[in-house]
Amino acid sequence: MSNRGADLRFNLEISFEEAAFGCRPKVPIPRPKKCDTCSGSGSKSGSAPKACGTCGGTGELRFTQGFFAVSRPCTDCGGTGAVVPDPCGKCRGSGKVPAEEVIEVNIPAGVDNGTRVRLGGMGEPGDRGGPSGDLYVTVIVREHSLFQREDYDVFCEVPISFTQAALGAKIDVPTLDGKVKMTIPEGTQSGKVFRLKGKGIPHLHSGQRGDQHVRVMVETPTGLTQKQRELLEKFADASGEEVHPQSKNFFEKVRELFG
Ligand SMILES: [Zn+2]
Ligand SMILES: [Zn+2]
Repeated sequence: MSNRGADLRFNLEISFEEAAFGCRPKVPIPRPKKCDTCSGSGSKSGSAPKACGTCGGTGELRFTQGFFAVSRPCTDCGGTGAVVPDPCGKCRGSGKVPAEEVIEVNIPAGVDNGTRVRLGGMGEPGDRGGPSGDLYVTVIVREHSLFQREDYDVFCEVPISFTQAALGAKIDVPTLDGKVKMTIPEGTQSGKVFRLKGKGIPHLHSGQRGDQHVRVMVETPTGLTQKQRELLEKFADASGEEVHPQSKNFFEKVRELFG
C-alpha cells in the first residue's frame, strides 16, 4: 500500500525580460527525499507494511451516529490503511527524510505575473515508495524601470525635445530587443502614441509577439540662454504670436462656449 506525495508550491521572482523570453533558473526546493536507511520502505527490517488493524486497511473508521453512518480518517495509520511493524529509526516509518533539492525550472517565454507552471512528479515523494506529487511554480514578475505590460503589449514613454517634435527627427527607442530607430514626423504633438509592431512579448503558446506602444512626451525647454530666448522671441514674432500659447482650435471652442 502506498500514498501519493503532497503537491509543493513555490513562488519564483523573475525579471520583466526573463518573463518575456523565458528562462531556466536553478532553484532550491524543499523536497523530502527517499530515506537511504530503509530505501523508502519505512521499515527497519525491510519487511513490507501491513494492513492497519484498527481500520482493517481501509484507512477510515466508520461508526453510526443516530441514523447516520459516519466515517473519518483512521488516526493509527494516518488514513493510508497501512502500518509499518518495525518503523525505521531515521524516517520514523514514513520512508522519507527532509531535504532540499536544486532543480532547473523551465519558465516558457510569455509568462506573466501570477502564471502558474506545473512540474509533474516534482512534488513530495509518496509515503513508502508511493508516486510523487506535483510542483507548482507561481511566477512573480518584477517591475521594469521603463516598460509596462498589458497582455502581450509593452508600453513606454519617451521624452523628445520640442524642436524634434516640431521639425521631425529619428530617435532611439528602448525595446526588449535593444535600441531601435523610430521616426518622429514633423509637427508631432506631445502624448502621441507610436506603435512598433512585433516588439512586444511572445505569446505563451503561439510565440507570436505583441506590439510596443511608444508615447512621446514633448519637453518644454528650461533655463534658456540669452541667445535661445532671442531666437524663440523671433520665432513667436514670425508666427504672428502675441502671447497665446494654446491652439486656434482651442480658442474657437472657448468662443463657442462663452460667446
Ligand atoms: Zn488504520
Ligand atoms: Zn527510513
